[in-house]
Amino acid sequence: MTREGTCRICGKFGKLTFEHVPPQSAFNTNPVFFQKSVHLHDKKSPLYGKRIRSNQGAGGYYLCKSCNNLTGSYYGESYKKFAYIGMMALTNRIWASKIITFEYAIQPLNILKQVLSMFMSIDTSDQLLNLKGLSVFILDKNSNELPDSLRVFIYHTATKQVRNGWGMARTEKGTHFLGEITFPPFGVVYALNSEPTRKDFYEITDFKNYQFNQTVQTRLKIPFLTPKTYIPGLYL
Ligand SMILES: [Zn+2]
Repeated sequence: MTREGTCRICGKFGKLTFEHVPPQSAFNTNPVFFQKSVHLHDKKSPLYGKRIRSNQGAGGYYLCKSCNNLTGSYYGESYKKFAYIGMMALTNRIWASKIITFEYAIQPLNILKQVLSMFMSIDTSDQLLNLKGLSVFILDKNSNELPDSLRVFIYHTATKQVRNGWGMARTEKGTHFLGEITFPPFGVVYALNSEPTRKDFYEITDFKNYQFNQTVQTRLKIPFLTPKTYIPGLYL
């Protein structure tokens, strides 16, 4: 199948290839169900309350071949390892513990760039594509120049619901511009020009300060959360 469109990372128009979000190697190989806005909000639509099945796993036609291959080969393996250790942490957690502490050997910069390429892939608003410097940060594997307006967070989740979205939320702290991708063992969240919706997320923005392929041994304390619906920002 051939699809054309604008690549969500480099912004060029051309042929698009199927990209898994998260990477196929990070437990994303089975069919999944997900819902889009029309399934959630439009009560008059025959699609209301229904879901879409994707047999290829979660993902879509978001990126040109060059960006898909580049992000996959630079960052995919690092994210896969991170997800495997995270799954071990999740499986061995003390039941009902709200924070999961675990030893990780990880490549922080690679992981951050993989997470951001996933966020750019699902961003139909173009707010990330238009964010000056973000594409370069991802496409130049050695860059440490993440735009200051963008912060990235992580949490553990075991929920099978897939939450792939972006949007706006209001809390007592004000208006939040956020994006969120949940896929066990992790949920990842970004906050753009605003505070995150929770203060207990584990922030990984500082991962930008490492070098490409640099491995560090570190103890991460990541909260365990259960998303409430398919809509980003709400938890049980
Ligand atoms: Zn591209």
